[in-house]
Amino acid sequence: MSRRNGIVWSPSRVKTLNECPRRYVHHHVVGRGGWPEGPRQDDPEVALAWRLGSRRPHSDLMMRAVSEGIRDRLWAGHQDEAWSEGAAEAMLRSRIDESIRTQDGCVDALELDSLVEDGWERLRAIERAPLISLLDKGERIDEWMPLDRLDPLRHDGARLYAAPDLLARSGNTWHLVRISAQIGRRQPTEPQRLELGMLLAWALKQPGLPREHVRFVIHRLGWRGHRWLSWRQRCSETWLRESRTLVEHDLHALSQARWKAGPFTELELLPTTDQRRICRGCGYREICSGAAHLLANRA
Ligand code: SF4
Repeated sequence: MSRRNGIVWSPSRVKTLNECPRRYVHHHVVGRGGWPEGPRQDDPEVALAWRLGSRRPHSDLMMRAVSEGIRDRLWAGHQDEAWSEGAAEAMLRSRIDESIRTQDGCVDALELDSLVEDGWERLRAIERAPLISLLDKGERIDEWMPLDRLDPLRHDGARLYAAPDLLARSGNTWHLVRISAQIGRRQPTEPQRLELGMLLAWALKQPGLPREHVRFVIHRLGWRGHRWLSWRQRCSETWLRESRTLVEHDLHALSQARWKAGPFTELELLPTTDQRRICRGCGYREICSGAAHLLANRA
């Protein structure tokens, strides 16, 4: 059995590991299978680890609801089904409300209104976003389909979440589109660009898609400053090679973190963040000795 068995690669997991290895192991190793209806949900320690590790700022929960709303919109367009703004906004509100209520047990009505306003601005504007605005018109895009980002790519025992949100063909060119409800700037950072390069690794494994790298263009569509901004780059062998090197490095680091915790997953053996900001947003801060130490030493 590969030492990578059970390891999941995704940009968000790598970010968690880089921010705090102890948090990564607490959530994704101790809490593995503890999600609602998960195979280990009946073990209270596992379920607690999963629940605390899943705790997110409310703005993240809003953005997750926006991503789900965009997926609904794309599927409705693809199936030629009606999509009403009123129903979409109500669904957005319900998703944000439910996710905060599940996490915190209650919702502040004023904060909810504000989150829905921010989310709805993003969701409503997706109609006019680059590339998306072409889909329903049948101009320049010959065929397209939304995809499930959680469709994993298997690699040496690990699962890589590298699928795009949308696949579109224009003549001989295939467009692989990743949609992000919040970005820092139009141009991805170099690590983000290499993560995006893995969309091609996913595409090259799909039956029916071409095998020539240059026939693909990767797009990132991201929200920043009240509008959707687009970045794109044609694929190349070099880009894919560099992306695979990054993922190999990430998989090694994810595996090392589990190994460092030892056979009994002793969290105390793992390094912690040195940033109070990370601890303040972490669900484990009430029970973590690392947080106790860091938050007690307020300079
Ligand atoms: S509370 Fe702080 S040190 Fe502890 S797991 Fe969370 S981020 Fe890491």
